[in-house]
Amino acid sequence: MAITVLIPTALRQYAGGSGEISAEGATVGEVLDAVMREHGELRKHLYADADKLRNFVNVYINDDDIRHLERLATKVKEGDTVTIVPSIAGGSVGSVGMVMGEANTELPSLTNQEISRYSRHLILPEVGMEGQRKLKAARVLMIGTGGLGAPLGMYLAAAGVGHLGIVDFDVVEESNLQRQIVHGTKDIGRRKVDSARERLADINPLINIETHETQLTSDNALELFREHDIIVDGTDNFPTRYLVNDACVLTGKPNVYGSIFRFEGQASVFWAQKGACYRCLYPEPPPPGLVPSCAEGGVLGVLPGIIGAIQANETVKLILGDEAGSEPLINRLLLFDAWRMRFREMKLRKDAACPICGDHAPIKELIDYQEFCGLKSPAANQSEGDMMQEITATELKQRLDKGDDIQIIDVREPHEHDIAHLENAKLIPLAQVVNRMDEIDASRDTVVHCKGGSRSAKAIEALKSAGFTGNLSNLKGGIGAWSNDVDPSVPKY
Ligand code: ZN
Repeated sequence: MAITVLIPTALRQYAGGSGEISAEGATVGEVLDAVMREHGELRKHLYADADKLRNFVNVYINDDDIRHLERLATKVKEGDTVTIVPSIAGGSVGSVGMVMGEANTELPSLTNQEISRYSRHLILPEVGMEGQRKLKAARVLMIGTGGLGAPLGMYLAAAGVGHLGIVDFDVVEESNLQRQIVHGTKDIGRRKVDSARERLADINPLINIETHETQLTSDNALELFREHDIIVDGTDNFPTRYLVNDACVLTGKPNVYGSIFRFEGQASVFWAQKGACYRCLYPEPPPPGLVPSCAEGGVLGVLPGIIGAIQANETVKLILGDEAGSEPLINRLLLFDAWRMRFREMKLRKDAACPICGDHAPIKELIDYQEFCGLKSPAANQSEGDMMQEITATELKQRLDKGDDIQIIDVREPHEHDIAHLENAKLIPLAQVVNRMDEIDASRDTVVHCKGGSRSAKAIEALKSAGFTGNLSNLKGGIGAWSNDVDPSVPKY
């Protein structure tokens, strides 16, 4: 009986470069045996024991997943196609905890100094010497050292996670200190990776900290992820969040997820081999501008402390493994409302049609996440840019000084107006701007401003589509630019 066996790209090098092999056999096991008689190298990549497929290797007959059947004993018939789908695309599996519990013999031993430092862990039977050695062996990659990364890094360092990788390319700003407690006032202006490394090394000099001062991109993510066991997502934007998810799925790594906005937080563990991924939950990002960033919408400073600590908790549990009955946040989405002090939990399910972790996922490699999130459509942005008139803070000041008749519309929120405002500016929040269009005199030159220039651009677009005919200019850089370039007495926020 001739059966077609499809070999995944990652394994083709062990099959003489061939993606399709014809083999004989009555069951999946016999067919694979026939293939491996030809290509002996394949065996160790497919099989854990003599007759057991590795748990990250999935096999399909035609379109059917046989994971839940007897796998190797499943019968095949003439003309069938057997497809091998390893859920790790070329990545190595880590050596600790839930990631792979059997490698205990390779766990590092603890020094007397470590035994004394971690004594409160060691006397917990659920952790013990073995658990602490797993922590020491673990390699965790943190994406970002901001609000979530701060408590996360500090607790993981304190817990004795042996290798912490940190990715960040930002510089510490004063407005970060309201929540990013890994950095201090003396660190303003320093690179976050340096500031975080110093603080974490002070918390625990016995661990190894590796910093990567770079933006996580589709070019560097897979390589970085493969060198770690667990990825912890502390990012604050959708392109990076989807990049982290997809790179985790492609390398088979668990993604310890957290996100925050205003008073609300979410946490989960996305691990495609064991359950839902982020795309199973949110296949596509919201259109740009619909969900404001923390810089636009604000965030309660304590919130990332709580969500980041939950992420640290889940990371430690993944490393320790679930043999002692811990329940990881896999297939569970935790929702937290800090304002009403409420936790809720949603059940998640792996989506068979998920574009990255589904049964026949079309996405096989990392994509352009800026474009995916609608943040990069060069042609469209170009033409909008051409149409939108802009004025710099310095130009506006010059025109006002000359006595030009200019009305200034401030489209921020009233509480922002309370923090800082321009003289004679009329406050009409963005959401009301179309309804209150008649309060804007179309016969006068009009400058629209917000905090940084993006909401005012939206206001101008909205006014134009609503038929406003006056001359509108966007204040470039918003009131922040006015404070920087014209009047430093206006506070920046
Ligand atoms: Zn998925």
